[in-house]
Parts: sequence; structure tokens; C-alpha cells
Amino acid sequence: MSAPLASFDYDLFVIGGGSGGVRAARIASSEYGAKVAMAEEYRMGGTCVIRGCVPKKLMVFAAGHGQSMDEGAAYGWQVEKGRFDWMAFRHKLDAELNRLESIYTRNAESAGVTIYHQRATIAGAHEVKLADGRVVTTKHILIATGGTPFIPEPYRNVGAWTSNEVFLADKLPANLLVMGGGFIACEMAEIYQGLGTQVTQMYRGAQILRGFDADLQEHVAAALVQQGVALEVNTDLVSLEKLEDGRFRAKDNQGRDRIFEAVLFATGRTPNTKGLGLEEAGVTMGKGGEVIVDDYSQTNIPSIFAVGDVTDRIQLTPVAIREGHAFADTVFGGKTTKVDHTNVPSAVFTRPEAGTVGLTEAEAAKEHDIDVYLASFRPMQTSFIGAETKAMFKLVVDQASGRVLGCHIVAPGAGELIQIAGVAVKMGATKADFDATIAVHPTMSEELVLMKKPTRSVSRQG
Ligand code: NDP
Repeated sequence: MSAPLASFDYDLFVIGGGSGGVRAARIASSEYGAKVAMAEEYRMGGTCVIRGCVPKKLMVFAAGHGQSMDEGAAYGWQVEKGRFDWMAFRHKLDAELNRLESIYTRNAESAGVTIYHQRATIAGAHEVKLADGRVVTTKHILIATGGTPFIPEPYRNVGAWTSNEVFLADKLPANLLVMGGGFIACEMAEIYQGLGTQVTQMYRGAQILRGFDADLQEHVAAALVQQGVALEVNTDLVSLEKLEDGRFRAKDNQGRDRIFEAVLFATGRTPNTKGLGLEEAGVTMGKGGEVIVDDYSQTNIPSIFAVGDVTDRIQLTPVAIREGHAFADTVFGGKTTKVDHTNVPSAVFTRPEAGTVGLTEAEAAKEHDIDVYLASFRPMQTSFIGAETKAMFKLVVDQASGRVLGCHIVAPGAGELIQIAGVAVKMGATKADFDATIAVHPTMSEELVLMKKPTRSVSRQG
């Protein structure tokens, strides 16, 4: 255990009370006895808890109940489906977020962390300035300020939503334009469509979810359309104005001129580093404003570290938590710990969900001769009632070693399935290991262990 150093007010000052920062602060304090303070200018819990993963997932559940009612009716239930009461949901959501926020605060404080509920900036390699003018000294500083939604320049001040505002809306719009083709755009398009809003999703590229496996992209795009989302690819705005009645007039590069009740920009997130004093302290930053760190989350200034979205490594909560924990182990616990950023599973919470771990087919084929195993089918549960939506299970396998390099799933519950498949891929499981596992019947995921013959083989490209 490292004893607090008399020459500094704190051993560690964490800027940002989100998932990564809180984990680092708690471990440094409660496990390793460091004297720790933290500053949070908004609400404890950060993006994930307050305006990201958690409220989003609750909205996914809300939208899913609407679909369940339709499916129940198709199975034979007599169902009277009313409208979704957004404000009833929002009151519950607000209460839940308040509860989670206080848990985050309590957990940090009971671990011995002093919380300053105000903005803090870096005043030097060992100094932090608080918004109330106080300056505190600290042996180490951890930047865990996360990211902020990005809106392209011409549309920044029009008054459109970002993911920050969706959870604060006071009504459900009748129609919504969603800009973007990434995680947030796809999830929000499906959620709002499921809640009863008519959604138009506009994406500038040829296919949504850039960077994901091509078959996964195709299945999610088809599902969006089947849910009723008007998905417009190769399309971008040319102008957007807010009308006097609060609606938006959107003109696009396909010549359309339309009115939307609400517009949501889900066009990426940028690191929260503006005005933090990083440049003045000499911290090296990347082109996008991200803090550059080494494998141990250390910046070029030895006393300053950064974890989570602000470093723009992988923008996922569990990754930030791992980075925060590894930082505390390394700096205060005497256990030098690197986070392995390979084979990180993730999920997109569309309907059905998409889950992915490891290499896409295209990535794998750059390095290996591969076999691709692909099962695409209408799942029993919904084909029974005539739904066209397809599930997909895909394994990308290295021919030489038999190792499963990537697993991609589009199916109800794919977020849950990919967590388990992720263990196998992380362990280096081979296709033979999958084959040796007996199927659970009747399930959709039994396809993962039943695909005997490759759908195609691809020789290494270049
Ligand atoms: P993404 O980077 O996933 O997607 C951004 C989208 O906006 C892309 O389709 C991009 O297009 C488009 N875009 C970017 N700039 C412009 C522009 N100037 N004009 C038009 N379109 C533009 O960001 P998200 O905001 O969706 O999500 C941010 C991060 O949050 C994700 O990377 C993810 O890691 C994380 N997240 C994770 C979730 C999960 O795990 N379920 C859920 C939500 C977020 P193009 O592809 O052409 O660049």
C-alpha cells in the first residue's frame, strides 16, 4: 500500500466521474490506500449511466414491448395496443437515473474518494484548478472526461438533438430524421420506430455500420427496413433549418425537401478535451483532440494519465472500466497491467440485435486463408407468424490453424450470445471445438455448432 505523500494534497485526482474514472478512483483508494479526489461537472455516472447505454437500453426494452404485443396478437392473443406514453416512461427513467447516480456517488465516497461536484482543469503536471478557484496539488492526474456528440459544422446551432437530448425530450415526435449509420443512429432509429415514431435514417455511405462484417451490416440494414425505418443510403443533408413552429426543414442531395418534427444527429463523438488545460500542460493530443497514451494509459507527461473515450481507443464502457482498473493496479498496486484491446465483443441493440467479436471476413482475409461459415434463416419464433426478418450466425475461420477469428451474430438476444461466444474466441477456440460441442435444441444459436461445410473459402488478399 502506498502511503499518501505529504507534499501533495492527493495521490490521485481524477477528472470525470464516468465509468472509467470511478473504477480507477475506487480501486486506487479502497484497494491500494491512495488518497483520491475526483471532479465531475455534470452528473456522477457519466455518459453510459446518465445519457448513453443505460437509458438507451431501457428505451430498447420499451420499444420491444410494442413488438411483443404485435407478435402476441399474431400468435392468437387478443391484444389492444394503445399509444406509447412517453412521459410516463420518462418519469420512471428520470427516477431510475437519479437512483443510479446516487449509487455511483455513494460507491465512490464509501471507497474513500472525495468528490468535487464542479469542473476541474489541469493547471500543471501536478496541479488541478477547480471552478470555484481552488487549486489542489496531486501526485497523479487521471483524465477520464469521456466524449461529446459531434454535429457537422453547418448544422451545429440549428437546435437538432444529439444523443444527449433524446432522453430529455418532453414528447415523442411523430416523425424523426436520424443522421448517421453508426451504433447510435441504428439503435435510435429502431427504438423510435418501435415506439411509434416514423423514422427516416439518412446515411452518407453505401452501407450502414461501417467497419462491421459485411453480412452483419446487410442483415441489420434489412431488419431496419422491415421494422419500417425509411433507410436512405448514399444520402446527405445539404441544408437544415428550424422553422418558426419548431419543426425542421431538411433538404438532401437527392433533391428531397421535407419537414421533420425532430432531427437527431448521431454522427460520431469527439473526445472531451476542450479547455481542459492539456495543451498548456504539454500533453500530446491527436488530430481529433484525443489524449495520446501508451499501453499503460500514461501520457507523455509522466504524472498525467487518461482512460476511456477521451483516448479514443475503443469507445465502449467496459473497455474504459478495464483501462481504469489497469491504471490503478499499475500505478498504485505495483501490478503492471496492460489492457488487451483485441477480440473485444460488442453489440448493437437493434431489433434483432447484432453482436460481434474478432475479425470481420474482410479483415481476416487480409492476413489469412479463411473459411466462412454462414447460416441465415428466419427464426422459428417469428417465421411462425410470417415475419421476414432473418437471423444470422457467422464464423470466420483460419484455414491453417482452424482457429475462429471472428464471430458475428444478428438475432434476438445477440448481445447476450456474443458475450459467451466472445469467451470462446478469446480463448482461441477452433472450429473443431465448436463442432465438438453438442447443440442446444431447439435454439437459434445451435447453428454455431452445426455449420459443417464452409459457405465459402477466401484466399488471403495480397
Ligand atoms: P459512430 O462512429 O459509430 O458512427 C458515426 C456515424 O456518423 C457514421 O455512420 C459516420 O459515417 C457518420 N458521420 C460522421 N461524420 C459525419 C458527417 N460529417 N456527415 C454525415 N455523417 C457523418 O458513432 P456513434 O455516434 O454512433 O457512436 C459513438 C461511439 O459510441 C461508437 O463508436 C461506439 O463505440 C459507442 N457506442 C456503443 C454502443 C454499444 O456498444 N451498443 C451504443 C452507442 C454508442 P461514416 O461511416 O461514413 O464515417
